[in-house]
Amino acid sequence: MSAVRPVRRSLVVVGAGPRGTGVLERIAANARGLDGGSGSLDLDIHLVDPFPPGGGRIWREDQSPLLWMNSQAQDVTMFTDDTVDLEGPVLPGPALHEWAGLDGRVFPDRRRQGGYLRWVYEKAVADLPAGVVVHHHARRALRLSGTRRGRQQVWLEGRPRPLTADAVVLTQGHLDAEPDDEQRELSAYADRHGLVHLPPDFTADSDLSRLAPGQDVIVRGFGLAFVDLMVLLTEGRGGRFEGDRYVPSGREPVLHVGSRRGVPYHAKIGYDWDAGSGDRPPLPRFLGPAQIDGLLARASGYDFRRDVWPLVDKELGYAHYHRLFTAHPERTAVAWTDFEEKYAAAEPLSAELRALVAASVPDPADRLDLTGLDHPLDGVRHSSPEALQDALRDYIGADLDRRHDPAHDPDLAVFLGLLSVYGQLVRLGDLGPWWHGFFSYLASGPPGPRLRRLLALSRAGVVRFLGAGLRVSAEDGVFRATGDTVPGAVLEARALVEARLPQPTLARTRDRLLRALHAEGAAATPTGLLAVDPADGRILHRDGSAHPRRFALGPHTNARGAGAFTRPRTNSPTFRQNDATARAVLDLLRALDPSPAAA
Ligand SMILES: Cc1cc2nc3c(=O)[nH]c(=O)nc-3n(C[C@H](O)[C@H](O)[C@H](O)COP(=O)(O)OP(=O)(O)OC[C@H]3O[C@@H](n4cnc5c(N)ncnc54)[C@H](O)[C@@H]3O)c2cc1C
Repeated sequence: MSAVRPVRRSLVVVGAGPRGTGVLERIAANARGLDGGSGSLDLDIHLVDPFPPGGGRIWREDQSPLLWMNSQAQDVTMFTDDTVDLEGPVLPGPALHEWAGLDGRVFPDRRRQGGYLRWVYEKAVADLPAGVVVHHHARRALRLSGTRRGRQQVWLEGRPRPLTADAVVLTQGHLDAEPDDEQRELSAYADRHGLVHLPPDFTADSDLSRLAPGQDVIVRGFGLAFVDLMVLLTEGRGGRFEGDRYVPSGREPVLHVGSRRGVPYHAKIGYDWDAGSGDRPPLPRFLGPAQIDGLLARASGYDFRRDVWPLVDKELGYAHYHRLFTAHPERTAVAWTDFEEKYAAAEPLSAELRALVAASVPDPADRLDLTGLDHPLDGVRHSSPEALQDALRDYIGADLDRRHDPAHDPDLAVFLGLLSVYGQLVRLGDLGPWWHGFFSYLASGPPGPRLRRLLALSRAGVVRFLGAGLRVSAEDGVFRATGDTVPGAVLEARALVEARLPQPTLARTRDRLLRALHAEGAAATPTGLLAVDPADGRILHRDGSAHPRRFALGPHTNARGAGAFTRPRTNSPTFRQNDATARAVLDLLRALDPSPAAA
C-alpha cells in the first residue's frame, strides 16, 4: 500500500543580515496558524550568506571594537510591539539595551549589535514550528533561474547543483558597486603615478594599510564613513585620548577632509524630551497619509523638489514652532493658537509664511531655515587654511553645545518631525540619494563623543579641514584639492580616499545574481534600485507584472523600510514590510499543488 509522502517545501533566503533575520522572525511568528492544523509545516529554509547569520556582513562580530553604532542602544529593536500596524501576531522581545544590560543612552560598538542580531536569529530559528528546518550555506549566491510558474533554482558559488526553491527572498542589503568612470580614471591615474586611491567602500573592509604614517591624505566625504576612517587611522593605529587631548602614536597619516558641505553631520541630540514642559508635536500634520495619497493619485506623477519638499518644509517647521511656542513662549511675540492658524493657512515656502515667522519669532536664531542648515558654509570665506581650522572647530563646538542644550529643544521636535516624514515618505518608494543624505545629515549624525574626538584630532593636527565645495583634480603626478571656503588654497597629496559608501544600482552592482536578474527583465526604480511591489515585496518586471515566487526587501530595493534599525514603539515600516512578505511567502507555500513535480 502506498502512503502519500508529505511534500517538503523549500524557501531560499539570500542575505542573512538584519533584514533576512527580520523576515525569518516574521515567518516564525506567522507560520503557526498556517500549518493547516497538522501541527507541523514541512519546510526547508535555506539561508545563503558567506557571513554569519544574524549580523551578516555589516554587523559581523569579527570586526574592530573601535567601530560604533551611531544609534543609542535604546533606539534599536528587532521585535514588534502594539504600535506596529500588521496582520501577523505581535511578538515582543528585548531592545538592544535590555538584551545587553546596557545603559540605554550608550552608543554600542557594532560587535555588540552583531551579538544581539545573532541571538535574534537563534531565537527565530528556535521559534519555528516543528517540521521547519533551517540550513545555513556560507556561500555567495550567483544566479537565480526558473520559470514564473515553476520552482526556482538558486546557484551557489562552489556548489555544482543548485538549491531548489518554491519561493526565493532576496535580502541582500548593502552591495558593492563597479567604479564609475571618474573612479576608474582616478584609480588608473594613481596606478600610473604610484599614488594611492581608495574608492567608495565599506570602511571596515578597506585596505587602510596603504596609507603611510605622516602621509598627507585627501579625504572626500565628511559623513559617517569619514568617522569610521578617522577612528581606524588614529586609535586603530595606537593613538589614545587623555581627556580632550589626543596623544598620537606617530603612525597616523594626516587626514585633509572636505566635502560639498564642508562640515560633519550634526551631532546626535544628547538629551531626552522634557514631557513636563509640553507635549510632543502632534504629527503628522501637513505631511500625512492624505497628502501621500494625493501625490500617488496624480496622473502626471510628482517631482520631489517641486511637490514633496514644500510639504516636508512645512511639516518640519510645524514641529519646530510647536515646541518653540509651547515650551519657550518668552521667545515668541504672539500666542500659539494665533500663529498656528495662520501657519496652517499659508502656502508652504511662501513669502507670506516667511513674513508670519519674522513677525512672530523675534530672534532669527529661533527660526527654522532648512536651506541654511543644509549649506552652513555658503558664502563663508577665510583668508587662510589656519583661519578655516579655527572657524570650523568653533562651528563643531557650537553644534555640540547646542545639541546637548535643552534650551534648543525645537531641534528635538524637528528630529521627531524628520522621523515622522521619513515614515510617511516610505510609501512613495525610492526618492533617490539626496533625501536620504539630508535626513542623515540632520537626524543621523555621529554621537557627541565622536565629534569631541574630531576636535581633539584637529587640535593635534592629525585632521585638517578643507572646507566646502571640495574639488579634486589629478594633475602633474599628484592629487590636488581646492574648495570654495579658502579661495586660492591648494593642497597636494599622494593619496585620495573616497569616504562614502558605494551607491550600487542594478546596472552597476558587483552582485552577479542581481545584475543577471536585471538583464533578464527585472524592473529598476528611477534611481536604479530593484523594483518590488510595496504591498508584499514581490519583484516587479519591466512589463509591470510581479513575479509570483520571487521577493526582495532592503536597501537595494524600493522597500527600504525605516532605512535604519527600528526604534521601539514607532510602527516601523520595516516590520510591516517583513510581516507582509513573510505572510505572502507562507500563503504561496500553502497554496502550492501538493506534488512539486506538478509545479
Ligand atoms: C556601515 C553601516 C553602518 C550603519 N550603522 C547604522 C546604525 O548605527 N544604526 C542604524 O539604525 N542603522 C545603521 N545602518 C543602516 C542599517 O541598519 C543597515 O542598513 C542594515 O545593515 C541593513 O540590513 P540588511 O540586512 O538589509 O543589509 P546588510 O546588512 O547589508 O545585509 C545583507 C546581507 O546579504 C548578504 N549578501 C548580499 N549578496 C549576497 C549574495 N549574492 N549571496 C549571499 N549573500 C549575499 C551580505 O553578505 C550581507 O550579510 C548602517 C549601515 C551601514 C552600511
